[in-house]
Amino acid sequence: MNLIQSINPFTDQLLKEFVPLNLKEAKKQVTQAQNAFEAWKETPLAQRAALMKKAGEQLRNQKQHYARLISLEMGKVIKESLAEIEKCAWVCDYYADHAESFLQDEPISLPDDKKAKVIYQPLGVILAVMPWNFPFWQVFRFAAPTLMAGNAGLLKHASNVPQCALAIQEVFDKAGFPEGLFQSLLINSQVTLSLIQEPQIRAVSLTGSEGAGRAIAAAAGKGLKKTLLELGGSDPFVVFADADIDQAVETAVKARMINFGQSCIAAKRFLIEKPAYKQFVDRFQERLSQLKEGDPLDENSDFACMARPDLAKELFDQVKKTRLLGGKIPFGGEKPEQGSPFFKPTIITDIPKNSPAFQEEMFGPVASFFSFQSEEEAAQIANATDFGLGSSVWTKDSDRAERMSRSIESGAVFINSMVASHPWLPFGGIKNSGYGRELSRQGILEFVNTKTVYLG
Ligand code: NAP
Repeated sequence: MNLIQSINPFTDQLLKEFVPLNLKEAKKQVTQAQNAFEAWKETPLAQRAALMKKAGEQLRNQKQHYARLISLEMGKVIKESLAEIEKCAWVCDYYADHAESFLQDEPISLPDDKKAKVIYQPLGVILAVMPWNFPFWQVFRFAAPTLMAGNAGLLKHASNVPQCALAIQEVFDKAGFPEGLFQSLLINSQVTLSLIQEPQIRAVSLTGSEGAGRAIAAAAGKGLKKTLLELGGSDPFVVFADADIDQAVETAVKARMINFGQSCIAAKRFLIEKPAYKQFVDRFQERLSQLKEGDPLDENSDFACMARPDLAKELFDQVKKTRLLGGKIPFGGEKPEQGSPFFKPTIITDIPKNSPAFQEEMFGPVASFFSFQSEEEAAQIANATDFGLGSSVWTKDSDRAERMSRSIESGAVFINSMVASHPWLPFGGIKNSGYGRELSRQGILEFVNTKTVYLG
């Protein structure tokens, strides 16, 4: 049997290992979740909110401990892990404060003297399949709205972050949520796909790769379960020559290097208007070379390593293939050592259309540069991808910003700012980046029964 292992990628040290649950054991936990749901759905919203506030407090009180776990298991630098925990506490507070108004009954006015309204009710047990890259945040942005809506939650976390998975359950347990309402199941993918068929599981939320999206959606389709898919991205960062170039370069480096590039909404393709292209690439390279590499636990480190050695290899293979097809590499591009998670930040220019840098998601610290000569060309390159998650446009011309925000095919456009998830803003993609929305009011309405009540 394959154990689920917690390995520190920076030191290659095995931290802990766990025996995964088999299907029979996992089904028992589904039953427990269903039992907890039966009582929870009747619990007043004010009581649910009080517990969710406590979850936020637990996160803040134990911030150092949880942040350290993130950094140990997936190599994120500690300052980013701390910020991640803070953000989780924020989303707990946000839904504690707003769920009641988001879920209020909505009267509908009818043309005759009849009455109708919409009421929002929980669905039941919702399964979340989550990735390792923001191992707390991805889960909390699912769990806070889902539990506040009156559902129960089950988590199948990525196999390389089992300690984070268990710590997240601990947050809800310590906050005083009913036993079984939120559980982390240490299970593998095969058991996950079978578990989706359990009648008590009413819906599945996945954040992960396109491949996982197809597998989960197929299994859920077989069982006629609703899915929400947050998948990959190849977000364009479009800079017009009239933009504040200093500010744009500064933000571009941050947007590409956040989480050492392992973020779905990281800016991955930089589209620069021709007159500003050379200046922009040179300055980007200069800023990139100033970032400090170091131990993930050192608060002065800007980056450390990829979350697993296979991810470094996969990324290098994409860089190598792009170079062989004619791409140029003015910075970085070194081959990682065999079995090593360390990777040198890399810049690619002159990118051929048939190369991975043009067509695929580059999930790591590799910036791909393109130049364009017109607004139309910028939109055309921005949209020449199967993905459609986020996008960023830099210009001082507000009419152009408005036109670009309508012509780019993505779930979000941020003007003169990098794409970021925020409790108040709907988050999600189109095309192969998935469907459905998390966060904001839209997020809490994904896993409810929008019930029509007609009074005849
Ligand atoms: P991943 O390999 O797809 O894994 C995500 C989750 O799905 C893990 O829990 C994984 O479990 C599970 N999984 C993978 N294949 C499965 C299958 N065939 N059947 C059932 N479960 C399966 O993704 P990742 O490497 O963790 O994360 C990186 C990807 O996530 C990138 O593409 C990134 O863009 C995307 N992402 C998207 C968002 C968003 O909001 N749109 C946010 C973050 C990340 P195991 O670990 O056990 O394989």
